[in-house]
Amino acid sequence: MTRIHLSRADITKVEENYVLEALRSGWVAPLGPMVDQFEHDIAERVGVRHALALSSGTAALHLALLHFGAGPGKVVVLPSMTFAASANAVLYTGAKPIFVDSQQSDANIDVALLIETIDDLQSTGQDVACVMAVDLFGRCVDYTALRPALQRRGIPLVEDAAEALGASQQGQSAGSFGSASVLSFNGNKIMTTSGGGMLLSDDADLMARARYLSTQARQPAPWYEHTEMGFNYRMSNVLAALGLAQHSRLDEMIKRRRAHRDHYAKALRPVEGVRLLGRSAGDDDADDNCWLTCIVLDPERISISATDLIRRLDMQDIEARHLWKPMHLQPLYRDGRMYGGDTSAALFANGITLPSGSELTEAEVSRVAHSVLAIVGPE
Ligand SMILES: *Cc1c(COP(=O)(O)O)cnc(C)c1O
Repeated sequence: MTRIHLSRADITKVEENYVLEALRSGWVAPLGPMVDQFEHDIAERVGVRHALALSSGTAALHLALLHFGAGPGKVVVLPSMTFAASANAVLYTGAKPIFVDSQQSDANIDVALLIETIDDLQSTGQDVACVMAVDLFGRCVDYTALRPALQRRGIPLVEDAAEALGASQQGQSAGSFGSASVLSFNGNKIMTTSGGGMLLSDDADLMARARYLSTQARQPAPWYEHTEMGFNYRMSNVLAALGLAQHSRLDEMIKRRRAHRDHYAKALRPVEGVRLLGRSAGDDDADDNCWLTCIVLDPERISISATDLIRRLDMQDIEARHLWKPMHLQPLYRDGRMYGGDTSAALFANGITLPSGSELTEAEVSRVAHSVLAIVGPE
């Protein structure tokens, strides 16, 4: 039996053709017409005015944070449960990350708690540069509650939509909720440029500044003139070609991931003590991009632990993983401040992500569902 992976790059002839076209066009250096086209197409899909293609999502987060003044003496508030890239970008700037707990339903940041956190920080004289919201596993944070609350307090929002391209909330696309928003095209994301990211915003000044910083802060002069420190963060034309190809197939790839989610939901419905993260009764995850399907075990009802379930699946050549280990539990962030209780820690202890890639066949998803059922299901 071939091994079933969590989320592999889904590469076809379409991708081959686009990349070949880029190579043959001679545009193999950084930048080029396919980068411009890629930025244009993603901005249009998401519904924002400007897009900047970058070497990674982490680079995009770094530039967004710099724009909002994150730096020494400032704090940035973000969820504890996220990929390390979100918090690391805060460290790059010299600001201090402040972590907030998750809500039970979908592991996204608890918005009420986030607002309390900001008020507490401000009342004790802390300088909050911005909030970074993360749309975990392809599902948007509750922006109807969050955005007005931040506006009233005059705090900018950075949306880390690295996992959420194609998701939406009340008809608005993920990647358009922040004053600056970030996408990732890393290898296992919903679409890939092998490695890459994008900064999105309606703010022309923000984008001009980010563009300048992303190309070593080169001044407009006939020679290489520099007055401040910049970065080498731009995307190459060859990788943008891969991005264009993947984008042409994105809707189809999301559809397949959604079908996998529906398959898992149906197969696992009879099991008491297992729930699909983010999916409540009567909900069909229509707004999710279904990047990864996660299940959460109820330790009162299911005797096997998440770690053992992952191990048992691995023995059957099925790759499953833990949810993101919360940042406040990471040795790197041991001294960081955390607001909230044990929700994200419990989700980490009891949650696993199931193989969800768009390249998986229905038979493979069915094999995973059967394996999970055989391990956790009723006799
Ligand atoms: C993948 C990811 C990133 C970073 O993107 P890279 O392109 O890998 O740098 C940031 N935040 C979250 C939540 C992610 O999942």
